[in-house]
Amino acid sequence: MSDKILIVEDEEAIADLEKDYLELSGFEVEIASDGETGLKRALNEDFQLVILDLMLPGVDGFEICRQMREKKNTPIIMVSAKKDDIDKIRGLGLGADDYMTKPFSPSELVARVKAHLNRYQRLVNSNAKENTVIEIRGLKIDKTARRVWVNGVEKNFTSREFDLLTFLAENPNHVFTKEELFRKIWDMDSVGDIATVTVHIKKIREKIEQNSAKPQYIETIWGVGYRFKV
Ligand code: CA
Repeated sequence: MSDKILIVEDEEAIADLEKDYLELSGFEVEIASDGETGLKRALNEDFQLVILDLMLPGVDGFEICRQMREKKNTPIIMVSAKKDDIDKIRGLGLGADDYMTKPFSPSELVARVKAHLNRYQRLVNSNAKENTVIEIRGLKIDKTARRVWVNGVEKNFTSREFDLLTFLAENPNHVFTKEELFRKIWDMDSVGDIATVTVHIKKIREKIEQNSAKPQYIETIWGVGYRFKV
């Protein structure tokens, strides 16, 4: 999917020229020709970058930039016919990412658009934290979201069941006694006995095993305990 760009510009010839060049570079482009429309669309629609003229009928570029920054981090390139205005908006620190004085060459605009989109994408990627996921055959455990799926179907687990299943899955092929599991998952001071472990294993199996009598994930090692089979 190509990046979508909004041009907020009241001078039709300029807006069209910018649009043509950006479209030739593979972008999808929309034009808003007054401030009010521009502000509304910039806030409510999903654009990857906004090219914002300063002097506009209705709401001006200052105000659009200010209101956008309260809600969004979309890159903004501000353009103005007056060099003085550019200096002024820089000084205001409204949060625009770049400034250009008209007239500018359309190819320079395209180059800057690309640079800002790349920079923004890198920023977004570096902030995105991946969830820790364990996948074993049809079983998927998202440790971060604490959610479990069996063959694509989400199953609900209580907190202890989830902890027990995750602990076993993270230590595959290791036999744990019920005592070990109880100490590991339940607090040391917790009231209860190791029969709790058996009950929880049974409940987990009902959710993850096709056939609890012939478990493919959690095996019972008679006289010892349990093992997660990989
Ligand atoms: Ca204007």
